[in-house]
Amino acid sequence: MANTIETAKTGRASCRTCKQTIAKGDLRFGEEVPNAFSAGDMTYNWHHLACAAKKKPSALKQALDETELEIPNKDELVQAIDANAKNEKPTVLPYAEYAPTARASCVGCAEKIEKGHLRLAIESEDDGGPFPRTGPRYLHPSCVGEHSGDNPEEFYAKITANSKNVEPKDLKELEDQLIS
Ligand SMILES: [Zn+2]
Ligand SMILES: [Zn+2]
Repeated sequence: MANTIETAKTGRASCRTCKQTIAKGDLRFGEEVPNAFSAGDMTYNWHHLACAAKKKPSALKQALDETELEIPNKDELVQAIDANAKNEKPTVLPYAEYAPTARASCVGCAEKIEKGHLRLAIESEDDGGPFPRTGPRYLHPSCVGEHSGDNPEEFYAKITANSKNVEPKDLKELEDQLIS
């Protein structure tokens, strides 16, 4: 992903977060996404920097680290990023998170996973049915078992890379549970 920050060359683009126009000359954050109209091509979804700090904190952080542009309100943006990063949902599976509700059941033991408890989200299996299940399935860390695949080290490495808001001590505990 090559996201970017640039000065808007025109005033035609609107912000994907707040839907308002991004004025010519304003700094804007571009999230690189596949072009829906041209297979194989990439395009940008534009956001005001302040909007991106709310909606795409980790992507904006990376772009801020990489940009050579002078960002006038960078300190403010970094503060907003830090405040919002906690609420950003991981999007790449597998990941670990604290269950936001108690609605999901563990695919290992079939018990509900309590709200606030650490859970693992893994890819749904294609069961060969006419309607492939999509979206993650959830597990208690202690119920992972064979769901971590042939290589628990690799599985754990993916979890740590994808889970941004899990306390280091909980990750350590997870590591002990997965790799033993
Ligand atoms: Zn905006
Ligand atoms: Zn379980």
